[in-house]
Amino acid sequence: MSKNDNEVIIIGGGIAGLFTASYIKDSDVIILESSRRIGWPPHCSGIVSINTYEEFRKKVHVEIESIYREAIFLDNKFSTICSVERRRPIAVKIARPRLEEELAVVAENSGHKILLGSRVEKIEMKEGQGRCIVAHNGKRFCSEHIIVAAGQNSSFAHIFARYCRKIIGIETRVELNKRLDPEKFTTIHSNRIAPEFFGWIAPIHDGRKAAIGIADKSEPVSRLAYLLKIVDKRIGVRKIISRRGGIIVRGPPSKELINKHVIGIGDILCASKPFTGGGLYAITKLAPHIANYIERERKRKRELIRIWRNLRRELLTQYYYTRFATLFRDSFLLLLSVACTGEKKGVCRIDYDRHTSLMNCLLGSVYGKKQIT
Ligand SMILES: Cc1cc2nc3c(=O)[nH]c(=O)nc-3n(C[C@H](O)[C@H](O)[C@H](O)COP(=O)(O)OP(=O)(O)OC[C@H]3O[C@@H](n4cnc5c(N)ncnc54)[C@H](O)[C@@H]3O)c2cc1C
Repeated sequence: MSKNDNEVIIIGGGIAGLFTASYIKDSDVIILESSRRIGWPPHCSGIVSINTYEEFRKKVHVEIESIYREAIFLDNKFSTICSVERRRPIAVKIARPRLEEELAVVAENSGHKILLGSRVEKIEMKEGQGRCIVAHNGKRFCSEHIIVAAGQNSSFAHIFARYCRKIIGIETRVELNKRLDPEKFTTIHSNRIAPEFFGWIAPIHDGRKAAIGIADKSEPVSRLAYLLKIVDKRIGVRKIISRRGGIIVRGPPSKELINKHVIGIGDILCASKPFTGGGLYAITKLAPHIANYIERERKRKRELIRIWRNLRRELLTQYYYTRFATLFRDSFLLLLSVACTGEKKGVCRIDYDRHTSLMNCLLGSVYGKKQIT
């Protein structure tokens, strides 16, 4: 099929915008990105399930920083509540913003244009001109197809999710004095470190380096400083290499995927796995279908809406489970420890994408049917 005249406009050249563009083959795409450098400033840890990693790998070479086979949950006193070990990796850490840079190359090789330093100010609907957007320099671009992938930091956030729970995530990359086990990923569930979320220690490469972060509603900087102090005392932090951070969305996901004829994808939909704030999963699930819908000229609108409803339902269930785990944190941690040390054996897998599996597993364990594997 040859390229047609229809251009697609994507607002935001982050992971959601670029990954969607990688699926658009038969139309020209213009991506307007406010930053002057793709993927900058970096804000994401890049920890995803094997399935999500495989979805990115369909399109680009994905640089892996670590493969995790064990997840350790620590409590307020840094004692182990639970440790989950698997022969198959639980999650992988992919290099970001390397992923965005690779996707940008794919987009440009497909003939798509990426306009850096182009912040979009507004979206207009003008009679006879269809849908247009106006960039900060006054330049207008009009198209039948506008995709908004500008994240939750943008002025377009209200178009989709009227209410979206947000917290601030910050992370430092450090060089350590002692080597950590590179296959063990640790989360710290402590009110002092992160009452709303948790702290994390994610080894990088051979474990001499690690990404140490926290996310919470308030005082993220002092909370991270406290966590770093503890890590320094126990392991020794030789050097801070870099810092990154940004908004983490925790649902509930937007009801609408298409609003006033513009389509959303990514954080703008408040679509994340709320327990870990992982937004990449929903992006990989939606991007191919949005591209398909655009290229098949709206014949598949009903199908696209159905796909979003199913994904939304899944994320919404995770949202309620996560609210429970946050509001009744002590009970949740108790459940976790009981499930981890329970005597009855059974089969119960933790799926890094479907966090509901953890809660189902915990409840199953308490009733003596299952044990965490
Ligand atoms: C500390 C931290 C750790 C995280 N860790 C993980 C993790 O381990 N796993 C995971 O799955 N997720 C993680 N996330 C979440 C993940 O980063 C997001 O879900 C994901 O980046 C969302 O992608 P996006 O493209 O929707 O938004 P963004 O990545 O925010 O990209 C939006 C883009 O739009 C541009 N933009 C904004 N406004 C405009 C405008 N008006 N005009 C033009 N361009 C605009 C921005 O410059 C940006 O490049 C983490 C987030 C944080 C903050």
